Amino acid sequence: MVERADYVSLEGVSKIYNPGPAQVEAVSQLGFSVRSGEFVSILGPSGCGKSTLLMMVAGLETATTGAIHIAGERVERPRLQTGIIFQDPTLLPWKSVLDNVMFPVHIQGLDEAQHRARAMSLLQMVGLTDFAEKRPHQLSGGMKQRVAICRALVTDPDLLLMDEPFSALDAITRDELNVALLDIWQRHHKTGLFVTHSIREAVFLSDRVIVMGRRPSRIVADVRIDFSRPRDVHVQESAEFTRLCTQLRDAIESQHG
Ligand code: ADP
Ligand code: MG
Repeated sequence: MVERADYVSLEGVSKIYNPGPAQVEAVSQLGFSVRSGEFVSILGPSGCGKSTLLMMVAGLETATTGAIHIAGERVERPRLQTGIIFQDPTLLPWKSVLDNVMFPVHIQGLDEAQHRARAMSLLQMVGLTDFAEKRPHQLSGGMKQRVAICRALVTDPDLLLMDEPFSALDAITRDELNVALLDIWQRHHKTGLFVTHSIREAVFLSDRVIVMGRRPSRIVADVRIDFSRPRDVHVQESAEFTRLCTQLRDAIESQHG
């Protein structure tokens, strides 16, 4: 990955759905950059345009105004080097866990043997080695989302986009997956954009947290999280962790008045 301060850059990005009398301005004049290797969370109320923002960075929605660049290249369509994880793992029910992880490899016509080894090592990292030949219905919700993480990483993307990937999971499973994601981040050098509702999750995982206000969204806070890596769950018990959560909660609540 090329080192740069503006690995992902957004300038004057707006999104208007259904232009005309019934138009919805989902994102308004948004601008920020993400450094290479940085993990940035986007926090904001429901409906403020977080998913729209992520879809534009993914090249799955076009911006109405402004420009998005990744590694200096303008995003105009989906790029192979971007991995995405959604809230719903959307696994193919008739395929095994391993074949689900390998799906992007087949679609992109990449080397089978090389990527199979990578898929197995990713499954091992998330504790699913023994489930490689199982079908999705034999897995719990948390396990399915672990498979989705492996699928997003199997082609070794440089950028990982995550849209509330753990929101549908119970609190304990969510904590486990947060730790798994931190572990992955430690071993693989990626740039990440992570959308969440959870202040604690954002602080625990991120190098930086951006708070978006109500629609049409603008940035109301941009806070650096300086805990060293590798991070331990116990960082959540520190006074600094509580201070950061309070600061972010205040920024969100300033939007309600
Ligand atoms: P979030 O992910 O923060 O909850 P979204 O990006 O999903 O917010 O939505 C932002 C706003 O744009 C909402 O008001 C939503 O109703 C609207 N919106 C999202 N997608 C579409 C669409 N395809 N057509 C029209 N309006 C949309
Ligand atoms: Mg959303």
